[in-house]
Amino acid sequence: MRANTVLLLCTAWLLAFANFRAWKLLAALDSGGLPHWLFLLCLGALLAMTTLVLLLPLSFKWAIKPWLVIVLLCAAAAAFFMDDFGAVVDRHTLRSVFETNAREAGEWLSWRMAWKIAVAGVVPALLVLWTRIDWRPLPRELWSRIKLVLVVIVMSAIAIGIGGRGIASSLRNQRELGHVINPMAIASGIYAYVDNARPQAAIVVQPLGRDATRPAAPAGAKPQVLVFIAGESARAASWGLSGYARQTTPQLATLPVANFTDMHSCGTDTAVSLPCMFSNLGRRDFSERAALSRENALDVLAHAGVDVAWFDNNTGDKGIARRVHETELQNSTDPKWCSARNCFDGILVDALKRTLAGTHDGSMRGDRVIVLHVKGSHGPAYYQRYPAEFERFTPVCRSNELQTCTPEQIRNAYDNSVLYTDSIIASVIALLRDDHAIDGALLFVSDHGESLGENGLYLHGAPYAFAPDVQTRIPMVLWMSDGFRQRDGVDAACLARQAAQPWSHDNIFDFLLGMMQVRSSAYRPQLDPLRQCRT
Ligand SMILES: [Zn+2]
Repeated sequence: MRANTVLLLCTAWLLAFANFRAWKLLAALDSGGLPHWLFLLCLGALLAMTTLVLLLPLSFKWAIKPWLVIVLLCAAAAAFFMDDFGAVVDRHTLRSVFETNAREAGEWLSWRMAWKIAVAGVVPALLVLWTRIDWRPLPRELWSRIKLVLVVIVMSAIAIGIGGRGIASSLRNQRELGHVINPMAIASGIYAYVDNARPQAAIVVQPLGRDATRPAAPAGAKPQVLVFIAGESARAASWGLSGYARQTTPQLATLPVANFTDMHSCGTDTAVSLPCMFSNLGRRDFSERAALSRENALDVLAHAGVDVAWFDNNTGDKGIARRVHETELQNSTDPKWCSARNCFDGILVDALKRTLAGTHDGSMRGDRVIVLHVKGSHGPAYYQRYPAEFERFTPVCRSNELQTCTPEQIRNAYDNSVLYTDSIIASVIALLRDDHAIDGALLFVSDHGESLGENGLYLHGAPYAFAPDVQTRIPMVLWMSDGFRQRDGVDAACLARQAAQPWSHDNIFDFLLGMMQVRSSAYRPQLDPLRQCRT
């Protein structure tokens, strides 16, 4: 075959087999007065053009086959996640791919995935490798490629001329489309990812709140210990305390906690939400680079003399705990909590128990903030997130291939993982309450919500602008021992009122500083949910 023929066949294959999601969105667009078939034809022509533009630069001897194989395989993998999980391809999802660890990646592998990628990607890739390309002298090849470019330009011009106005306005209203056109979305996603990651070596961390101080503890006061549980994929819609029809938080329901019923996340994935909630940037000004370039709430607490520690059973601290004491537990082999695949969050309660013991033997004297980064309801293998005794809602989905389970099975497995989170939080409260050497408090916040198949979406990571509520509305729970509350001067009735107000991750930075009575130019009292409650 001629090289041009191979290029056109690959383009046709990608259009037909790697773009189901894009076609579904395109078919639903308003055609702006054009006959629908003509509108779709114009869009199809533009789609083909974007694909060809991607394939053309490397369409020469030696390069063309490896390039087509890479594109076909990547497109097939992306199509699997877009079709089966409702995912989109942008720099955030690509970062999850590039920065995953072996255990997390292993949870995705399935026969369904292998089968789908084989059919959509491996088969055409093998055909490409098997094809003998009829190469002509370079000048003629170049000329034939230039002719192809001219065809691309003319076809695009015609398509835009006919359907331009309708296409432009429809695309403006359907921003998701840019993230599902395959394989162009992969190319632009990788570009955005690299562009964003590139300057990180040169990042200089700007100091923040170096003037931070705290009032001296009253004579005879016990050390204050605030445990901050940063949650994973817990959504308000499945949170018993927030009105979910099922009681998924039976232990917390019996405890005197303040449950914040209108709490919103900063992002829809861990890599955004987690650094965002510890930074003073707020959702509107947040970028990973900006967050990495400045100190965060933990640093300010440390400047004020608070002892800060981070324990991790998830995928790491995303750079937040770089300047404080950090302990990674996710690769632990403690047989009490860990299987070959992962560790249950109970391992964090054990770690907390051990570190609190330092208060008793005198090695820890000061006030402390201890962050526990839990694995929570991390999908898709919800059924692996909790020990057997928490499997109370049955039957459960015992697969990472969520689409092969019924909605009921997925919900059951997810709800069991929430039950376990409820028990983890309650165990931490019990530890703090029963420890008479300290005044304890606990703040639990989820990083983002989760889709469990609503509207064909699974997991999380939808671009914020069109993310469904279930991915952005999250639970937040506060418990304070009487001693902690009194030293903080917080009025209980006021706290209950504040818990019903709308809050977001934008408030966490000042929430934490306020809880530990930090005085600093970095503290913004107007953003602290408890400011009005202090006497
Ligand atoms: Zn997360």
